[in-house]
Amino acid sequence: MLSMTYEYKAIPTPEQVQMIEQTLTVCRKVWNFALRERKDWYASRKCQVNACSITSEYIIPADVKYPNYYEQSASLTRAKSEFPELKTVNAQVLQQVLRKLETAFLDIGRKGMGFPRFKNKYRMRSFVYPQLGKSQFLQGNKIKLPQLGWLEYVKSREIPDGFTVKQALIVRKASGYFVMLTLECDVNVPDVIPDGHPVGIDLGLDKFVATSDGEVIDRPRFLSSLHRQLKLLQRRLKHKQKGSNNRHKLNRKIARLHQHISDTRKDWHFKLAHKLCDIAGTIFVEDIDFRVWAKAMFSKHTLDAGFGQFLNILKFVCWKRGVYFDKVDKNYTSQVCPQCDTHTGKKELKDRVHFCPECGYTTHRDVAAAQIVRNRGLSGVGRILDNKENACGDGLTGTGNSLVKSLRSRKKSYEASLKSAS
Ligand SMILES: [Zn+2]
Repeated sequence: MLSMTYEYKAIPTPEQVQMIEQTLTVCRKVWNFALRERKDWYASRKCQVNACSITSEYIIPADVKYPNYYEQSASLTRAKSEFPELKTVNAQVLQQVLRKLETAFLDIGRKGMGFPRFKNKYRMRSFVYPQLGKSQFLQGNKIKLPQLGWLEYVKSREIPDGFTVKQALIVRKASGYFVMLTLECDVNVPDVIPDGHPVGIDLGLDKFVATSDGEVIDRPRFLSSLHRQLKLLQRRLKHKQKGSNNRHKLNRKIARLHQHISDTRKDWHFKLAHKLCDIAGTIFVEDIDFRVWAKAMFSKHTLDAGFGQFLNILKFVCWKRGVYFDKVDKNYTSQVCPQCDTHTGKKELKDRVHFCPECGYTTHRDVAAAQIVRNRGLSGVGRILDNKENACGDGLTGTGNSLVKSLRSRKKSYEASLKSAS
């Protein structure tokens, strides 16, 4: 099963805008109520039997079950007779809110995410129609949605052949309303095999990307100038009275600029990913957890650069273009010589050049790191570099059993060695 999301700018009529806002309000109320219910249940189970806690606890009888998704969606159905407002919104949309809350609670344990928050009107920005039914709901540049009716949108690209629209998500952004369509196609896509020109990539802060081919790509200049603009606007904020109309206007301006920055950055990431796929048949990157990075010393700049987003985009573009993509062990990439595998010791941040006293290999520091990444990746998938001077079999940098992780990659390496033998 293949699934993708296409985003279109919606052109709602004033009535539809009102309807969308109304839906968001009801969704928000449902979310906040359901979250309160869960929090109360937890609090009432935390309190000791023989002592009361300092904060007062709403006492819930011991036999009341934990309000999970099924409990809550049943009580939502019951609540509809009492609160007619709930009936104004599509039932599945509201159920989806509860499902999202359930996922949010599960993700605390699964992914280490934070505790879900109560939402004010600025935080509740989207809702989803999980099913669009069998009837004809797409026509020209319009989509028929429950309650909203025919919603017009800017058809910036066609839905590809063979795909069916499964879900529609309505999102409010600073620059207006958007509709995101989840497309699905019932095909099996074969796994990409590591083939073609291999490229290792090193990500960094003073330059964005260095490739093992010696190319160094800087961070885009326009982002820093946009950030300067943002700073300017934010500084003006303190002169505006809280709750005033002018402050509201300025906040909207800031929100639009934020969106412009994130759109521009995303666009640049996509272009860069395609550029890399143009030259490479196989791409390796370091396996870095950027959340840890961001928490450490580089906080703002790391988040600015959006490395995590770039890697996700790169992975997707690679998959789309049939380029093999893999992550490799990140340790000591800057401390080993890519030519002869000698440990050259730790480099300071100011050392911009890699020089190996053993073999005399000299190159840009980040390029050397990228070459290590490439060599590790190749030995991980069992391929040997075609380049004569680097091809020395077992001597490849970072050759280690830990890199040959799964059975699948071992199988691949077996196949690759057969290929190179024949
Ligand atoms: Zn060397």
